[in-house]
Amino acid sequence: MPELPEVEVIKNMIQPLLKGKIINYSIIRVKKLKYIIPNEIIEINNQKILNIKRRGRYILLILINNTIIIHLGMTGKLFLLNNIKNSFQYHKHDHIDLIIDNNLILRYTDIRKFGFWLWEKKNYKTNIFLKKLGFEPLTNEFNNLYLYNISKKKNLPIKILIMDNKIVTGIGNIYANESLFISNILPTRNSSTLSFKEITFLVKNIKYILSQSIKYGGSTIIDYRLPDNNIGTYSKYLYVYGKKNKLCKICYTKIIKINQRNRSTFFCYKCQK
Ligand SMILES: [Zn+2]
Repeated sequence: MPELPEVEVIKNMIQPLLKGKIINYSIIRVKKLKYIIPNEIIEINNQKILNIKRRGRYILLILINNTIIIHLGMTGKLFLLNNIKNSFQYHKHDHIDLIIDNNLILRYTDIRKFGFWLWEKKNYKTNIFLKKLGFEPLTNEFNNLYLYNISKKKNLPIKILIMDNKIVTGIGNIYANESLFISNILPTRNSSTLSFKEITFLVKNIKYILSQSIKYGGSTIIDYRLPDNNIGTYSKYLYVYGKKNKLCKICYTKIIKINQRNRSTFFCYKCQK
């Protein structure tokens, strides 16, 4: 599943190529992804893309009065094809083409169809999915004092807390596991037991891990490609995620895997307390 760094990388790749361009029309080959494709997207006609933004794991195509909101679900991918003739060549899972400036195609491919496209007429910030998202982890609003206060109030395992999108949005499973490892904090620790110093270190490391992953183009754990068909290389730098029974890179103890709320948790019991 594409997590925040992967979505940020995609946004950064398509933004310079699509900003200021016109969506001439769309070619829609399915009625429904996770949700029914809105009529406004089916009938779109010469609409200017003012900007491309990311919020959480959503990609936003900001138009003059409306916003197209794209969520990639589990297997959604965006490709940019540089010849309009490519719209005649497509595969079973190529569900949406946006024809841009009569020469580019923004293509959406999704094998499992858990992704979705929405049309927001009002300010996108008021969208039903976007308005419940917590702070962006790479902004100053997400800081040590904020996380410390919430950690004291909630009696939750720290990993569950930092993965709660209403508290901070977009720290997925990979990055939660990795941030806790380099912060020497056990994922199962009750959040209210963490000291201000530990929280400060954790917040710093969450920002570091996400920024590094964006720099290396995301993690690409399972079947995930960037729009230029390159593979993200951050997975080479992982310490614990997906490393059950492998040796910890710091102390050579075996990495342990447990389940927390049906998500895999990986940790080193020597390095993390
Ligand atoms: Zn270790």
